[in-house]
Amino acid sequence: KKNVSGEIVLITGAGSGIGRLLAIKFASLGATVVLWDINQEGLNCTVRLARENGAGRVHSYICDCSKTQDVYRVADQVKKEVGDVSILINNAGIVIGKRFLDSPDSLLEKTIQVNTMAHFWTYKAFLPAMVAANHGHLVCIASCAGFLGISHISDYCASKFAALGFAESIDMEMRALRKTGIKTTIVCPYVINTGMFDGVKANFLPVKAAVLLLDYFGGMEIMSTFKGRPKKE
Ligand code: NAD
Repeated sequence: KKNVSGEIVLITGAGSGIGRLLAIKFASLGATVVLWDINQEGLNCTVRLARENGAGRVHSYICDCSKTQDVYRVADQVKKEVGDVSILINNAGIVIGKRFLDSPDSLLEKTIQVNTMAHFWTYKAFLPAMVAANHGHLVCIASCAGFLGISHISDYCASKFAALGFAESIDMEMRALRKTGIKTTIVCPYVINTGMFDGVKANFLPVKAAVLLLDYFGGMEIMSTFKGRPKKE
């Protein structure tokens, strides 16, 4: 198992699903976890579970990742109150799920704010300290929708393609700067039974268990280096 006891791990969208499981996992490994969400109730529940399961410190903040000012304000607060984040997990995500022809103009913008722009803002906020220390880990929870088009969720696919492109490009820049202490992991799960896609009419195959994703993180070295875009079948 990776030793993360000295790390400060920020998980966005930690009030539910994958973010909650990651919070519990990192807390149980002894990391200091910083949890962001817009859902206070969900966040409270994750904090309780992370404290019950973990030896590390747990901090939570209401942060609307779709709003640039909110992200930068809360990022500053975290730096002052907790310290420099060394593992940044961009996990918050939304899917609205409409056939393209039925979707209002606002749909893509709304989805991209959370699924893409929040990554951009958090990289801006936290990457400089990682570069200065030559130590850090960027984790982009993308999706198989980050490299495959899927009907009825074109907005989601576009946002995830962009998030994946960001992370991959930043990873290349870190290599070019010889910042070998900064790793990037791009996780592209298929459908996981968190409820996120319950109302979506896209054609998915049967659900997979969320624990599969946790296994990836338990063995973080397995996915610690992004080795190229997964190939289409
Ligand atoms: P989820 O809906 O259970 O959790 C998402 C969390 O993000 C929620 O707690 C929600 O409140 C939070 N969130 C939404 N908008 C936010 C905002 N503006 N600011 C802050 N927090 C916000 O979903 P999940 O299945 O756990 O998904 C987590 C990530 O995994 C997402 O990025 C999703 O796209 C990705 N993913 C999920 C699946 C899947 O099948 N569930 C598959 C591939 C990728």
